[in-house]
Amino acid sequence: MLYAQGPSKWPEVPEWWSYSLLREVEACPRQWALWNAIYPRIWTAHGYPKRPYIASLQGRVIHASVNEIIRFLRRCNCQSSTDPQIPSLLKEIGGYSSVIRRNILREREYFENNPRSVDYTEHVFNTLKNRVHEIREQVQTLITRVAFLGGNTMPWTGAEHTGLGTTALGIDSYSEVFIQYPEKRLRGITDLIVASASNCELIDLKTGLSHDWHVEQLWFYNLLWNYDRKVNPFKKEVSRMALYYQHGIVDIQVPTPVELAEFESRVLQRITLATAGLRQCLPYAKIDYKLCKYCGVRHLCDEYWRSWLQQKIDQPTNIMHDFELLIVEPRGSLSCKCEVIASNVLHDGTSVLLRLPRNIGEIERGQTIRVLDIFMSQSTEDSSTPILQAGVQSEFFAVD
Ligand code: SF4
Repeated sequence: MLYAQGPSKWPEVPEWWSYSLLREVEACPRQWALWNAIYPRIWTAHGYPKRPYIASLQGRVIHASVNEIIRFLRRCNCQSSTDPQIPSLLKEIGGYSSVIRRNILREREYFENNPRSVDYTEHVFNTLKNRVHEIREQVQTLITRVAFLGGNTMPWTGAEHTGLGTTALGIDSYSEVFIQYPEKRLRGITDLIVASASNCELIDLKTGLSHDWHVEQLWFYNLLWNYDRKVNPFKKEVSRMALYYQHGIVDIQVPTPVELAEFESRVLQRITLATAGLRQCLPYAKIDYKLCKYCGVRHLCDEYWRSWLQQKIDQPTNIMHDFELLIVEPRGSLSCKCEVIASNVLHDGTSVLLRLPRNIGEIERGQTIRVLDIFMSQSTEDSSTPILQAGVQSEFFAVD
């Protein structure tokens, strides 16, 4: 059982901001700070250990595989994603499935010494391996959407590369391009830039559902591209922006220079506010019942466990809940009587029977624990005592 204790050192306020960082800090400064702080009592790695989630890992594997394959096909001077030679070219790197399996293994590396995932890693990655066929179809769909793959880079018409370094982009397609706006300390990695003599396209590949913020993210990349004098020394303007999903392509209106300037000023204001939230001696906890319920570090956030907040979380009783519990009487290694300290479905002081699916380590009388994602049912022997039935997805943390 890990400890639900705050960090020994909070992270520094970021000097550079990406779009995803801004969204994370805006959602809740405390959450970002908890994820990125130092926990020597738990492990030596940076940040709080994450749990493996199949859906997000699948998205990361698809993303990494698509980018790897596009980069490889570009090196092969393969001009089109519908080129019939693609399957034979890909044999050199083992084909689609090998690329996907390699990326699954890369994702797994993070979880090898991760103390939070010991009980889940095997199950999650076996599930992922069984989905290689499905992932392959998703990878192929996204690659087919990228019509032009590139190769044979040409400089922009009339432009001299001499003296500008090797980072300047020419006429070609580029995957995972790092771009930045140094004067404002903004940066990001855009999935794809497709440049022809007359056009410059910014494309982002999306593996999940569409969200409004995807559009704003492309505007952010447009801003970076406009001011990055290393990759875009000739000040080429973006002529097309698009989001490529599994379900289709969504073209986004390219902002005018005035709209982009207004957007920049809004982004900078938002960064000022986000920075203020992080600079507080305890980073600001932005309580939002819907977000908090799914927050991966909520067991570390004392605000989340306040009784008044728990009572505001309105959820049906037949789903998983979180509880802060006082151990009253351990009964072997797989069950114990407890008293509720905080919960959104039971009053403080309610007696419950906690049933565990596995040995979670020593449990002592008088100890306080936080339990995430557990089902509640009524005891058959004594209908007044609710039973908290832990499943494979449940997590347990010792508060003291
Ligand atoms: S539980 Fe809520 S308030 Fe606390 S860190 Fe998570 S999102 Fe922020």
